[in-house]
Amino acid sequence: MDLNPGPPHDRSKPTHHPVQPWWVGPEDSWCVAGPTGQEHGVRALTDSTYLTHTSRRIGFLDRPRDLACARIEGSRSTAPTAEEKQKQVGARKAVGLAARDASGHLSPLTISCRSTGDDDVAIKILYCGICHSDLHSIKNEWKNTIYPIVPGHEIAGVVTEVGKKVAKFKSGDRVGVGCMVNSCQSCESCGSGFENHCNGVIFTYNSLDKDGTVTHGGYSTTAVVHERFVVRFPDPMPLDVGAPLLCAGIMVYSPMKHHGLNAPGKHVGVVGLGGLGHIAVKFAKAFGMKVTVVSSSPGKRREAMERLGADAFVVSGDGGEIGAAMGTMDGIINTVSANIPIAPRMGLLKPNGKMILNKTLAGSCIGGMADTQEMMDLAAKHGVAADIEVIGADYVNDAMERLAKTDVRYRFVIDIGNTLKQDAATGVNSGTRYRDTPGLQ
Ligand SMILES: [Zn+2]
Ligand SMILES: [Zn+2]
Repeated sequence: MDLNPGPPHDRSKPTHHPVQPWWVGPEDSWCVAGPTGQEHGVRALTDSTYLTHTSRRIGFLDRPRDLACARIEGSRSTAPTAEEKQKQVGARKAVGLAARDASGHLSPLTISCRSTGDDDVAIKILYCGICHSDLHSIKNEWKNTIYPIVPGHEIAGVVTEVGKKVAKFKSGDRVGVGCMVNSCQSCESCGSGFENHCNGVIFTYNSLDKDGTVTHGGYSTTAVVHERFVVRFPDPMPLDVGAPLLCAGIMVYSPMKHHGLNAPGKHVGVVGLGGLGHIAVKFAKAFGMKVTVVSSSPGKRREAMERLGADAFVVSGDGGEIGAAMGTMDGIINTVSANIPIAPRMGLLKPNGKMILNKTLAGSCIGGMADTQEMMDLAAKHGVAADIEVIGADYVNDAMERLAKTDVRYRFVIDIGNTLKQDAATGVNSGTRYRDTPGLQ
């Protein structure tokens, strides 16, 4: 880890740099402006816990995960500008389900959203899927969590207000937001539709926004997002079963597309039949491919073939049936995040076949905004969506426990609109209801 803070700052010459902390002295310490801009504290910079806890105030890094390798070139002390103050005045209150510490326990918290900027779309959130990343994040398993954290990046809802430059959306539109809420919008990655590769990408939650606040995710009543990062829900696509596509869907769709695993007649293997795997099977069938599910659970055979439409099912592991399928596949989507042996599964591939690993990375997703919209449109056309279990806001902690045991078929989706109230009065719906996607048509 390179925690070298860079050269001491000459406070007589403030640098023009979006950096908030005050340099105070010894090379291994920082003085950071507190919430009021007045208070400050000094700690060793090598104390990464301290960095994590205070990073929301620091506001100089694009992403919290950059903290560990930050090299800060200069700094200045700044009071909020008139424009920033105005934004704070116009900010709206919302309610989110937040974890306050690494226990990961989620409970209602009043949060604020920025006022709707010229390019922004304000969204009343109605549904939000629960992704494995959310679980890792609330428990600080990637060591970059900024508490309190409001997770969620499979967001679906309705537009309530648009900024004056917004052309793509209007009030009442059904929309979604996935893993990103902004980027630099000017680099080569952004220019070529891969905002997800932009160095300035701002993730939907636990990420430092351009105004120095920390982004909060979709387990909340409201989102305000730059229009570029808002996706239109095609007409036939219900919001609840479509929400998980915004992370789980694009994570399988984008690599399939970019590795040529979207052509009729090709044979693809899907390793693991969970949140990602079941959607991969559906997309593969939509592309007209032959699909074989590779799973260590023989009990999933019927589910895979009869309900999800896979063409074949092979059991991996000891005494499995993997041998018969050796050398037959053009590609494999490996959705299993546990460390499973790759070698026996590689043998399933034809010469030059490709294995795609869908590892869950911190806040990452694999697809730009154009691909995300294309995926939603294609999914709506072919009836592809997630199979979900809809839960009330007060069931979210139970859902997280079950998710940790992979006890869900296949995605939990929180019914935010009906169960998370603006006055934080939850406890309306403690049960779950199941929803399969055939209702999409
Ligand atoms: Zn996700
Ligand atoms: Zn960029």
